[in-house]
Amino acid sequence: MKKSFFTQNLMRWNKDANRREMPWKNEKDPYKIWLSEIILQQTRVEQGWNYYLRFIKAFPGISKLANSNEQKVFKLWEGLGYYSRCKNLIATAKLIEEQYAGRFPGDYDKLLALPGIGPYTAAAIASFAFNQPKAVVDGNVIRVLSRFKGIDVPADSLSGKKLFNELAQQFLDKENPGIYNQAIMDFGATVCKPRNPTCDICILRKRCNAFLTGRANDLPVKEKKITKKIRWLYYFIMIYKGKVYIRKRTNKDIWHNLHEFVLIETKKAITPGNWLQVAGLKQLINPEYAIVSSTSRIYTQQLTHQTIHGQFIEIRLQIPLKANLGYDAIPLGKLHDYPLPKFMITYLEEKNVNLRNG
Ligand code: SF4
Repeated sequence: MKKSFFTQNLMRWNKDANRREMPWKNEKDPYKIWLSEIILQQTRVEQGWNYYLRFIKAFPGISKLANSNEQKVFKLWEGLGYYSRCKNLIATAKLIEEQYAGRFPGDYDKLLALPGIGPYTAAAIASFAFNQPKAVVDGNVIRVLSRFKGIDVPADSLSGKKLFNELAQQFLDKENPGIYNQAIMDFGATVCKPRNPTCDICILRKRCNAFLTGRANDLPVKEKKITKKIRWLYYFIMIYKGKVYIRKRTNKDIWHNLHEFVLIETKKAITPGNWLQVAGLKQLINPEYAIVSSTSRIYTQQLTHQTIHGQFIEIRLQIPLKANLGYDAIPLGKLHDYPLPKFMITYLEEKNVNLRNG
């Protein structure tokens, strides 16, 4: 079948000019492809790179991952964020081990049924590992296609999603789906970039609608504007006799399964004053037997749908916590054994508490 101008030129560019290197590139092992794709969901390549290498070293095969201590897996994931990915990683590893005898299914629909695997990841595994003709559709692909075809239908609308899926499948090189899928994503990341695409050296410019109409920086279009929820997290580092109180986050919320210090959450900032009198602390401590030894600056972390602000207040206790509310006292030196949110790690690293090596 004759390939389109788009497909032919993209494949030629890939052969002659694509210099993008990544440790998982050209990988054929579905386990490693899956691992890299889960890490790369909501994570930049540069950030995910070392995590991928660390995971492959710790868990060279799916059996090792499926049978590993969950806390160890979460510890290795620490700092990557979006921890539901890690939870799904463990669930899928166990499922593959038990139901598929440790081998990934090559079928797109079976891949799609696994925890944490959506259409993009299923298409990536199916095409890279099993040469299945399934087009990937991610932000890079949408950008390249919307510009090349001059499509201003919002990519996040129902009709936009359908349109881009069909177009991606239509342009796919059905004989070399894995190579094509990687090529279009690399092209989007290095040539047809979100800002200032290098149209002057682009092999598609002759027929690129956005280039010919001067709209490259205006496409693609998005429908929804995300409104972010604002949360204030006040972490009280309660220290008693060389031990610190922590608990595991078990609610359906951010940082599920990670550990944290004593937390008081508010919708608005607390006016700095007497920290020992903060509402909610009374049931835990007796202010007469507690001393505030330090307060941190305000920290901020942006998540996709939330902005987290917060502060760390270190308190020396002369008597243990009154009620434990799920908090356990652990030796300060053991803190590094527990997976913690990046928000807390940033603070601890600034305080020179070395968590990775203990
Ligand atoms: Fe993207 Fe510019 Fe190439 Fe069009 S000409 S595909 S906008 S880099």
